[in-house]
Amino acid sequence: MIIKPKVRGFVCVTAHPEGCAAHVQQWIDHVKAQGPITPGPKKVLVIGSSTGYGLASRVAAAFGSGAATLGIFFERPSEEGRPATPGWYNSIAFTKAARAAGLYAKNLNGDAFSDDIKRQALELIRTDLGQVDLVVYSLASPRRTHPKTGAVHRSCLKPVGQPYTNKTVDPDKGIVSTVTIDPADEQEVADTIAVMGGEDWEMWMQALSDAHLLAPGAQAVAYSYIGPEVTWAVYKNGTIGLAKNDLERAARHIDSLLKLNGGGRAFISVNKALVTQASSAIPVVPLYIAILYKIMKAKGTHEGCIEQVQRLFATHMYAGKTPKFDEAGRVRVDDWEMRAEIQDAVQDIWPRITTENLDAETDIEGYRSEFLKLFGFGLPGIDYEAETEPHVPML
Ligand code: NAD
Repeated sequence: MIIKPKVRGFVCVTAHPEGCAAHVQQWIDHVKAQGPITPGPKKVLVIGSSTGYGLASRVAAAFGSGAATLGIFFERPSEEGRPATPGWYNSIAFTKAARAAGLYAKNLNGDAFSDDIKRQALELIRTDLGQVDLVVYSLASPRRTHPKTGAVHRSCLKPVGQPYTNKTVDPDKGIVSTVTIDPADEQEVADTIAVMGGEDWEMWMQALSDAHLLAPGAQAVAYSYIGPEVTWAVYKNGTIGLAKNDLERAARHIDSLLKLNGGGRAFISVNKALVTQASSAIPVVPLYIAILYKIMKAKGTHEGCIEQVQRLFATHMYAGKTPKFDEAGRVRVDDWEMRAEIQDAVQDIWPRITTENLDAETDIEGYRSEFLKLFGFGLPGIDYEAETEPHVPML
């Protein structure tokens, strides 16, 4: 099959297996080029390990410090005439590379919110790894079936309290428009907290603790975003922000659990805004990212997921370092994004962006190429005109 990108709104419905593998290899090469993270994590569970920040965490742990990794994700395999989702191909590429390097790597493809996947993960850890010393929680999901009640909760990206109007961009068409988003009702707020809040992370950590599968001193980290005022109504103060507050609550609870387990810790790392499948679905944010990329690339401080997580591991969590927390107890690897010189420049550009000056004033081209890369397109050395086999079994 010859696989070309097919972009529909904020998703691409095709993915290229060799392109995804080349993308994963770029991340592996980056981590290796930074040198070993010593001492680093050794036995790692990554929940949400197939794309974005979770995949970066898995790559940084495996290729930075030789960690054995168990990856959990929810990806769709190929079907007749249709390639798999990129996380499927990424996970295969990662697993092949890790095993070729002599590292343990196993995968569970299924619903991380379910009791069944938790049971399977615990069983694999018990038999293969004994215990884990790091748990990375990096899920981004539109829905959750609650394992106890059976209720299906759907998350939404809406303001809370009042409607919000701002500029947004359709990156594919290059059109800047004004969007008004109506506020969420109480049920939508509760549902978003149920999906993207901390309850499921707590369930994972409690189950691991009860089964004595956490090594003494084990750490746990989950990822959040705060960002600039221009996105606050739809992010920090919106439904997703309230869910992230709940994730912070869970971090404090899990932290006390891990403190009793040989002095471990749990915390939130606030990361940079980046093009991922999750962030491209948020109104307003893609336009902000296109402006941010332009400014940070010009300053030489631009990072992607892999640079962010490598820096988190090497300067906060491992290599003899301890986390530097902000006033709310969070690690901030969004520090370079939030520098005054960067944010002042964003604020300066924001009001004047139009469809006409989008190419000149923003890095919309960089946004588009990063977006396509998520699906394995635009990677050097890949012949996109060649026949490729879309049906690849999970390892
Ligand atoms: P992503 O869409 O790239 O990755 C989501 C991962 O979750 C994938 O591995 C997917 O398979 C997995 N997943 C989704 N539903 C699942 C389920 N039911 N069971 C098992 N696995 C499931 O997202 P991302 O942008 O890397 O986001 C990860 C975390 O990082 C989120 O908490 C997000 O809020 C946070 N974050 C993202 C950004 C950003 O700009 N992208 C910035 C800061 C923080």
